[in-house]
Amino acid sequence: MKIRTRFAPSPTGMMHVGNLRSAIFEYLVAKKSDGDFILRIEDTDQERKVEGAVELIYETLEKCGIIINEGPNQGGNFGPYVQSERLELYQKYAHQLVEEGKAYFCFCTEEELNIQRQEAELRKEAFLYDGRCSHLTKDEIKEKINNNIPYVIRQKMPKEGISKYDDLVYGEISIENRFLEDQILLKSDKYPTYNFANVIDDHLMEITHVVRGNEYLSSTPKYNLLYSAFGWPKPEYIHLPMVVDENGKKLSKRHGASSFADLINQGYIPSAVVNYLALLGFSPETNEEIFDLEHLIKIFNPKRINKAPAVYDVKKLQWINSHYIKKMEFNDYVSLTKPFLEEAYDLKDKNEEWILELLKIYQNHISHGKEIVEVTRLFFNNDFELDEEKEAILKEETTDIVLKTFKEEISSISDWTIENISIALNNTKEKTGVKGKLLFMPIRIKVSYQMHGPELPNTIWLLGKETVLSRLSK
Ligand code: GLU
Repeated sequence: MKIRTRFAPSPTGMMHVGNLRSAIFEYLVAKKSDGDFILRIEDTDQERKVEGAVELIYETLEKCGIIINEGPNQGGNFGPYVQSERLELYQKYAHQLVEEGKAYFCFCTEEELNIQRQEAELRKEAFLYDGRCSHLTKDEIKEKINNNIPYVIRQKMPKEGISKYDDLVYGEISIENRFLEDQILLKSDKYPTYNFANVIDDHLMEITHVVRGNEYLSSTPKYNLLYSAFGWPKPEYIHLPMVVDENGKKLSKRHGASSFADLINQGYIPSAVVNYLALLGFSPETNEEIFDLEHLIKIFNPKRINKAPAVYDVKKLQWINSHYIKKMEFNDYVSLTKPFLEEAYDLKDKNEEWILELLKIYQNHISHGKEIVEVTRLFFNNDFELDEEKEAILKEETTDIVLKTFKEEISSISDWTIENISIALNNTKEKTGVKGKLLFMPIRIKVSYQMHGPELPNTIWLLGKETVLSRLSK
């Protein structure tokens, strides 16, 4: 049987990294076995629907290199792939269960349910709908429907026993049926609930493996009761650990870098993001951590998905991203970083050679595109303060003579080239007899206000003779 997985986002706005992580795992589960990856848009909550969100889902998957086999744009034999275009199907199947006596019309209004809820509270019981509408007679039902009284359709749940299933990651999950409410399948606006629609669609679309966030772990027994009511085979379940922030809280939309677009806007690279997210809850067999999508498909093993919450670690994401930046073609790297530079600084009097050299010396030093702004600040600002550590180096016995000699060497350069600057550094070493850290650190601190950075001669060349001399004199 062909493996089929689906990504089933609700088009409610940005593509949260947690959602993208689900898509990646769903894709990997399918592709690992040469299966199909299906996109289904779950837009039954019309109030939460956001204009443009579906396009954003497409764009994100495409940028990440995730190829959809079937979906709203691709077509396929199991469409439509948008839930709001499948309403008749949900109607049909809900009414089928009513006819078979497995579901019923419920006419209780919100006010009536509130009263029942308050009564339960007084009895200090958790509220579960008591199923009173399941006892209505045929005539009563007919009359209410003829009078256009709004209704929902609820599934009759078993009141005794236990429902359980095996999740590939979390093992056996069970729930006592007495805690299950007669679940709503169709709402009074004739839209299905998520609970109902996901089962109908997963069955009709022949999904073999349901891969999704673990917030659905405990509702899955309910979904299985629907499969049983219809006499349908159940899919395999792979629930993914929650993505949490550094405080162990569910990663919220407010977290600085919580959507794919946020990351791209900060100059992260899609393939690096995919690489990072694939490791969020999955541990490969080796210690390797850099994988492109194709390589990921090879090494992926759903049995190595962890139960423990996966901590969204920006430092690790940056580490992975910096690796991809280092590997970039220079032209691509320039396209990634230059716009940030142009936005942050006035480059009017800088020529292209200078700009490209500036970008070049940082290719091995930045973790994401936007970081270029921070690391190059020393070329555009003069007001830096030195901390104690740097002050201490400037107080070294040899510092004065090093700076004085280097200043003379720099002053005498007539052709301002990186090579001549290297010669000036070398001459300073020869003349003062100072070398290593004591030679380079004071110079670097004086001209760049920093202790570490890219090649010193290139940095000095970029700063320009005038600036370097003035900083050395300060
Ligand atoms: N529409 C659901 C969501 O976005 C999908 C959950 C699932 O994969 O079943 O959370």
